[in-house]
Amino acid sequence: MALIVQKYGGTSVGNPDRIKNVAARVAKYHAQGDQVVVVVSAMSGVTDSLIKLAKEIMPLPAEREMDMLLATGEQTTIALTAMALHSLGVNAVSLTGAQAGIVTDGVHTKAKISNITPQKVHQHLDAGNVVIVAGFQGQTIEGQITTLGRGGSDLSAIALAAALKADLCQIYTDVDGVYTADPRIVPAARKLQEVSYDEMLELASLGAKVMQSRSVEFAKKFKVVFEVRSSLNDNPGTIVKEETNSMEGVVVRGVSLDKNQAKVTLVGIPDKPGMAARVFKALGDAAVNVDMIVQNVSHGTGTPATDLSFTMDKPDLLKAKKVIDGLKAELAFREVIANEAIGKLSIVGVGMRSHTGVAGKMFDVLAKEGVNIDMISTSEIKISVVIDLTKGEQAMRAVHAAFIG
Ligand code: ASP
Ligand code: MG
Repeated sequence: MALIVQKYGGTSVGNPDRIKNVAARVAKYHAQGDQVVVVVSAMSGVTDSLIKLAKEIMPLPAEREMDMLLATGEQTTIALTAMALHSLGVNAVSLTGAQAGIVTDGVHTKAKISNITPQKVHQHLDAGNVVIVAGFQGQTIEGQITTLGRGGSDLSAIALAAALKADLCQIYTDVDGVYTADPRIVPAARKLQEVSYDEMLELASLGAKVMQSRSVEFAKKFKVVFEVRSSLNDNPGTIVKEETNSMEGVVVRGVSLDKNQAKVTLVGIPDKPGMAARVFKALGDAAVNVDMIVQNVSHGTGTPATDLSFTMDKPDLLKAKKVIDGLKAELAFREVIANEAIGKLSIVGVGMRSHTGVAGKMFDVLAKEGVNIDMISTSEIKISVVIDLTKGEQAMRAVHAAFIG
């Protein structure tokens, strides 16, 4: 008998048939004698339409009330899932985040879990019930309802698995697992049997949006091994766990392409102390999340000047442009160039720590494809390049073929 935490995302519970399908899967584990805790998201699209509804009332609703509103999405799903299990003759109890003992800080709409007291969950399990917990929500010690940030049901599941010391944590989604690349772009992509937390984090933050990054960080911190798998079939998924020695044998675990990037270049900015500080402080104050930064060496005669480029998520471009335009008089740069037609292509793998020549090989592949590299950034287990968006997919396929096959 095992204690299993299963999390089902929005598409897996997207309509009554899908919910019945989830119940049937849960019932099978229950019939085997396993104790099952099911964490569910809101039905797909529900959270978005609740947000839209709120904005129709007022543009900037109070965050406390947003939490009150958004928590109803998951609350709908837990009740329906419990009913679906009852109709199969399985004992099941639904619990809100608060009832399940999920305690958070008071930062409405992006609360952090501070503590879980899962006694009630254990009691219901011991009485033979499947316990269905609303993901994405918790409660402060003062009893205020909070939510954990978009995609937060993943975090609820991982945190519950840690608190309950679960034997198994399964994250059910609408894909079969974590792939070496997006199979819609790279037909040769294949499903990974296992991936380390760090690789998963890099791939997630690079746009391979299988899971909320914060939940993977949490899993890493508390050493929660979990499996990402599909709720639509019985294929084994991808195991996400601590790095093992054998993982280093593979140089590149995955390739990702982020098409949601934009670039801003400040041309001819005086090369003197304090300029970069001024630019990035202003961007930070405006909540623009800057990703890559590249500064050239100085050029020109007279006062040395340089070019400074940075990237950010596309939706932040307008905000960034406004900030930079506002600095023009003060910083006396020559012009600003904004470019939305870029893509960030990255390769990720813990094997890069012990293999040399990886960057050279990647750049060589791009050269042979006639792809110009605009910016480069590297970390211990990742190499990213900014390239022309129109060449992004072709470049991705070529790099995948060269490193993975
Ligand atoms: N329903 C929430 C959202 O859409 C939480 C989740 O799905 O994980 O962000
Ligand atoms: Mg989700």
